[in-house]
Amino acid sequence: MVIMKCPACGAESKLSFVGDSYQGPRRCWKCRGLFTIRIEGNEMKSCEPLSEEEFAKQQEIEALKNKLKNR
Ligand SMILES: [Zn+2]
Repeated sequence: MVIMKCPACGAESKLSFVGDSYQGPRRCWKCRGLFTIRIEGNEMKSCEPLSEEEFAKQQEIEALKNKLKNR
């Protein structure tokens, strides 16, 4: 599990994911800011602001990926 610190408001949120790396969209629960985060080896490597449009696109990709995984 990794603690994500929002670069905009500083709110921390716990992330859990499979394995020790993750890349995908996240929304801050506090300021509703959108970010693309990249985690490697249980460490946050990058956190970039994301537009509403890009977020929707990335969420679609994530949903597709999950569908494929669950088959
Ligand atoms: Zn925030």
